[in-house]
Amino acid sequence: MQTRLARLYAKGDLRIEAAEVLEPGPGEVLLKMAAAGICGSDLHYYQDGGFGPVRVREPIIPGHEAAGIVEKAGEGVPLKAGTLVAVNPSQPCGHCEYCQKGMPIHCLEMRFMGSAMRLPHEQGMFREWLVVPAKQCFEAGPETSAAEAACSEPLSVCLHAASRAGEIRGKRVLVTGAGPIGSLMVAVVKHHGAAEIVVTDLADAALERAVAMGATRAVNVSQGAGALAEFEAGKGYFDLVFECSAAAPAIRGAIATVKPRGTIVQVGVSGEVPVPLNAIVAKELHIHGTQRFHEEFATAVALISSRAIDVRPIISHSLPLAQADAAFLLAGDRSAACKVQLTF
Ligand code: ZN
Repeated sequence: MQTRLARLYAKGDLRIEAAEVLEPGPGEVLLKMAAAGICGSDLHYYQDGGFGPVRVREPIIPGHEAAGIVEKAGEGVPLKAGTLVAVNPSQPCGHCEYCQKGMPIHCLEMRFMGSAMRLPHEQGMFREWLVVPAKQCFEAGPETSAAEAACSEPLSVCLHAASRAGEIRGKRVLVTGAGPIGSLMVAVVKHHGAAEIVVTDLADAALERAVAMGATRAVNVSQGAGALAEFEAGKGYFDLVFECSAAAPAIRGAIATVKPRGTIVQVGVSGEVPVPLNAIVAKELHIHGTQRFHEEFATAVALISSRAIDVRPIISHSLPLAQADAAFLLAGDRSAACKVQLTF
């Protein structure tokens, strides 16, 4: 059997090709893919050929936010044909120093689907048919759409970011950047019982989605940092910031508006960005990095399946695989799109 897939050869050079699909072996399943989201990293590969030190150095099938329907289960796999599953793209080795210490996110041999971080690149899920280990498949609820299930991966990222923040209940929270991750971050913070959730972005369309996801107030900062001046008074207003933009002005704004000994979780990723170290020191801030997720994936699928977190407001467009180029261009237009997904 053949599958159609999207393969990126270099910046802007995305080709729809065909490849052979093998039978699922023991412990594997064959999935008919149903929805796959374009993430910021996929977009960076397409627009810029990579981000920071991560470069596309050989052809790669992008895509790590996907859901599919079980077509055929290999030996020893209990999943029934017709079951909708979200695919966890994370494949830690299970036996390196960090896996042994219970930190599989920091696995030394991590194979993360659709990632150009290591060579050879790990191939991803922008493809019609996929054989994958069943342990990476998480069953979605009967009422869940494939589009929702495919948001399990970015929601996992936000659940893990929340776990880095300490107590959220009752806190005043700022979320900077209202793209898909920022908007899901808002929903997670609301789920954890934040008292106030202020969200910032440069685009009104993005802010509207973040409000639909639970933000109590949206601030457009396109006219400059003055928009947050009220929150800087008296050494700051917020207990906690989730910085989802990786933009220097947003990071400066976060540091200026968080209270002394407050916490900033840096979710957005970029190369080198200037940061006012003096203010971090003087305010005695806690700055936490966060990346990816592990046990949060199962939680994300459960939260989406029960609609305890309703991800539907962020899904803005679905395009067939044949229009992958158009989908990538749309995903890069923040005034029009939020989460753009491919369908198969
Ligand atoms: Zn490992």
